[in-house]
Amino acid sequence: MKIVVLPGDGIGPQAMQATVEVLQAASSRFGLNLQLDHDIAGHESLQRHGATVTPALLEKVKSADGLMLGPMATYDFKDEAKGEINPSKFFRKELDLFANIRPARTYPGVPTRVDAFDLVVVRENTEGFYADRNIESGTSEMLITSDVVISLRRITRQCCERIARSAFELAMTRKRHVSIVHKANVLKIGDGMFIDICHQIAREFPEVSVDDFIVDAMMAHVVRAPQRFDVIVTTNMFGDILSDLTAELSGSLGLGGSLNAGLDHAMGQAAHGSAPDIAGQNIANPFSLILSAGQLLGWYGQRRNMQPFLDASKAIADAAAAAVFAGEATRDVGGRLGTAQTGQAFARRLLSA
Ligand code: NAD
Repeated sequence: MKIVVLPGDGIGPQAMQATVEVLQAASSRFGLNLQLDHDIAGHESLQRHGATVTPALLEKVKSADGLMLGPMATYDFKDEAKGEINPSKFFRKELDLFANIRPARTYPGVPTRVDAFDLVVVRENTEGFYADRNIESGTSEMLITSDVVISLRRITRQCCERIARSAFELAMTRKRHVSIVHKANVLKIGDGMFIDICHQIAREFPEVSVDDFIVDAMMAHVVRAPQRFDVIVTTNMFGDILSDLTAELSGSLGLGGSLNAGLDHAMGQAAHGSAPDIAGQNIANPFSLILSAGQLLGWYGQRRNMQPFLDASKAIADAAAAAVFAGEATRDVGGRLGTAQTGQAFARRLLSA
């Protein structure tokens, strides 16, 4: 399997270095023959190539089997005409990575404010309120006068259908329950269509039970009793916000794995950002990126029906739980190690598993 590795900005290089050590250990332990192709995106690429991402990089990623994208300083990238393209948006749009799969679970040994839970947010990833990617060209935010802005939200039958199907297929491998999260009381047409389509797809999966929640109330439900949820399917922006909440409820934003999956391509990417407040201090939690790498291996193994990749994916998830329990993790989750040492300990744990 060939994986393009882009470290990213801020805490990205340190977290990615730890992740690379884990991938190399997984490759050796499970005979995966991973080939890691290191390249650059974000600020470093902007300086060297005049753009945060380049067409040549896209071609390289298209011909690879997977991509690991480090956190990007997206807020800094304001003007596409100056090469300041949001790499995250770029790959999601260009590779049609329509399903953003964000698991969140509590870990024994990591203090949390809530009861133990294990859920997955399945977030639509290509349209909704994301004005930089929901139209073919340009952005769907318009400056009408200097005091008036209109931002458009796009919801399509096709995108609703494919994200709903992803959620129900995932639920079949878990506890067989899907919760639909929406704002159809206000966005009656767009989210009305989203709910209708989710219920239509649900009929293809009679073993899966379904309920639905209005997104604002969902915040209370998920804080009050996250253990009642299994798979949560929702539109782009709601999923982005909800999944940061569920990651933090699990103990830290640094524990939130995230896979962006399409039919032909997939990208592992931490759920968090470039965290400039802690960059370069060797304290960033690399688990989010490591868990995302594990998800990427699982996606590849499932698609190709290759058991060693599925085994490696499971081993990474299991090793994460064992590592945090043993304190072989960063301080934000009660551990005692720096970022680099956490990656090294994780790799050793995988090799001896
Ligand atoms: P952030 O996610 O970078 O940080 C939020 C808070 O969580 C900070 O206190 C940070 O220190 C902490 N945190 C984040 N990741 C952590 C980790 N691995 N270990 C320990 N603590 C961690 O959000 P922000 O500060 O609002 O954004 C910083 C930059 O990241 C902005 O440019 C933003 O646009 C970008 N961003 C990128 C992505 C992405 O690439 N997918 C996602 C979100 C934000």
